[in-house]
Amino acid sequence: MLALAACAPTGDNGGSGGGDGGLIGVAMPTKSSERWIQDGNAVKAELEAQGFTVDLQYAEDDIPTQVSQIENMITKGAEALIIASIDGTTLSEVLQTAADSDIPVIAYDRLIKDTENVDYYATFDNFLVGQQQAWTVLNGLGLTDLKGNALDGAPEGPFNIELFAGSLDDNNAFFFWNGAMDVLQPLIDDGTLVVKSGQTDIEQAATLRWDGETAQSRMEDLLTANYSDGSKVDAVLSPYDGISRGIISALTDAGYTVGDEWPIISGQDAEVDSVKAILAGEQFATIFKDTRELAKVAAGMAVAILNGDDVEVNDTTTYDNGVKVVPSYLLAPVPVVKDNVKEALVDTGYWTAEELGL
Ligand code: BGC
Repeated sequence: MLALAACAPTGDNGGSGGGDGGLIGVAMPTKSSERWIQDGNAVKAELEAQGFTVDLQYAEDDIPTQVSQIENMITKGAEALIIASIDGTTLSEVLQTAADSDIPVIAYDRLIKDTENVDYYATFDNFLVGQQQAWTVLNGLGLTDLKGNALDGAPEGPFNIELFAGSLDDNNAFFFWNGAMDVLQPLIDDGTLVVKSGQTDIEQAATLRWDGETAQSRMEDLLTANYSDGSKVDAVLSPYDGISRGIISALTDAGYTVGDEWPIISGQDAEVDSVKAILAGEQFATIFKDTRELAKVAAGMAVAILNGDDVEVNDTTTYDNGVKVVPSYLLAPVPVVKDNVKEALVDTGYWTAEELGL
């Protein structure tokens, strides 16, 4: 569909009506989580299919590395930047350099904060992700369906729950937490849910860099300090599959066994190991965010800007980055439990049955 013109990336798309082989920089946070690998590959494929050259970089969760990768992209003549930040507040300076060269910037999945130099934001409905995480927990406890509607004959509880949040340098962590607490707080207030540790602030629940081992050791501490009296944890709110795996390890080490008072655990990202854990009954649910769709939206935004076309957004009020409200396109997340693994993840081609051991 698009002609590949043999011209150098000049920053001028030449009105070719599509990609002209110019360079687009794609900065991803880390390869340590599967989702970002899927994201990077999908964005690259989308842009290459439209005739662009892609410089895809991963920063292994190191902020100076990400900054210098973006600097390099600018030096190499990138016409646009698509960035999933590590710390949303640390890119102001390098993005000023991008702005000085008229390079448009798309924030990918995570909001880039404290700068006017971010043009658009492609992400999921992150508050809804948090609500869905809480609803999956309540569903596992037999209290509601996956949309939070009360179930007939639901048990009264009380249920012991512990709460985990993501990395506080990632704006998404607050949206996930606020969405989840919007659902859980009333049940904590009326005594249906009991947080025995009393750790109900996001600062207490946070997990720096979404690190599974950090979560594992916090879970170990919570179990030792609050459940050595023979009481059991019935549920754990977890915002990300890697954190859920840390929690599962802590529970196993503390003597919990699957199928026997094993807690309900949420997650996010539909990572292969965690989907397998769902099939094995270790993790109750995850939230599937189709990285292929996000890649399409983000790549489409970059291409539209370069072509001078209108950029499609569906939210212009939610994502205030401290300097401006960034026009956004929000995709819909999908809760996944054992029953819909095949429909949500295999039938859509996200994972093969073989990859999931089905
Ligand atoms: C993403 C999640 C991911 C988390 C950890 C968040 O910004 O939205 O999908 O689980 O980072 O990588």
